[in-house]
Amino acid sequence: MVEKRNIFGVTRAALEEYFIQSGENPAKAGIVFDGIYRRGIRSFDALGLSTRVCGALSRDFEMTLPETAEALESEDAAKLLLRLRDGEYIETVLMRQKFGNCVCVSTQVGCSMGCAFCKSGQLKKRRSLSPEEITGQVIAVSERFGVKISGVSVMGIGEPFDNFGAVRDFCEIMCEPKGYALGEKHVTVSTCGIVPGIYEYAALPHPCNLAISLHAPNNALRDELMPINRAYPLEELIAAAEYFSKKANRRVTLEYVMLNGVNDTPEHAEQLCGLIGGRDFYVNIIPYNAADSDFEKSPRDRIMRFYDVLKKHGVGVTMRREFGAELKAACGQLRADYEK
Ligand code: SF4
Repeated sequence: MVEKRNIFGVTRAALEEYFIQSGENPAKAGIVFDGIYRRGIRSFDALGLSTRVCGALSRDFEMTLPETAEALESEDAAKLLLRLRDGEYIETVLMRQKFGNCVCVSTQVGCSMGCAFCKSGQLKKRRSLSPEEITGQVIAVSERFGVKISGVSVMGIGEPFDNFGAVRDFCEIMCEPKGYALGEKHVTVSTCGIVPGIYEYAALPHPCNLAISLHAPNNALRDELMPINRAYPLEELIAAAEYFSKKANRRVTLEYVMLNGVNDTPEHAEQLCGLIGGRDFYVNIIPYNAADSDFEKSPRDRIMRFYDVLKKHGVGVTMRREFGAELKAACGQLRADYEK
């Protein structure tokens, strides 16, 4: 028997191709997208298509979402621990922001990139997620908390460019105008610095936003904090980010987590300004979520000094609010506790 595909992992182009191959009008793909993503229909029979088409869809596709094992909620954030079909667990975070609800999705079960400050890195990669397992996180959050999603960050557990095909399809599904229609500027893919992945991403016809987890302004420190830097040092990483920014005509975000006494001095800030030069990048300063870690969160005055240096040099900089520290929001923390 041919295995059914999960509809939540199918792009509009692939679904159109399916209909063409079945001798049907490919425009039906738009009806399916509208039904499942906009109207929340969870049965092929309720899509308003003919009995013949509904029968074929039910024969060839399934419509299943990951199960929620645990849900935590605070005023500005929420978190789901989801159980996948093979018994693995993943985490998804909802951030309620002034300008809308943003979901932070995971792309792998565990992560092998080994960033020193990251709880997820302690749980090595077991496998990559399929597109439907990534899409399923957004739907699960939206349904569980009854919210409309206006943005997605591909910034949870896992390295997106170590799972390129699934992340590419996920982005396409999120941006499909007949579906969630988020738009490329409302989906951000964040890499720890896989340079060939950045070029591949830049080559897509409609890439979404790009963020880079930078976290250090020089190679010596970045080598220590993020082993990927030994394969793709800062000069190569910055050149790739600049290439993306010019090709896609998009500002690139540099994520910078503030680790007390490690990467947060005014000298580090000066080095960071030198690294950015006049490029179309901006820095997102992130207060560290210090749960169960060898690193500490930088005090507010150190963060402000760092921020001021960037401002003085005319570098675009924002400071991320702290979301749901009480929800065990450090990536991987909830799953780690659950598996103990
Ligand atoms: S920071 Fe991201 S890339 Fe690095 S170990 Fe954690 S999940 Fe992996």
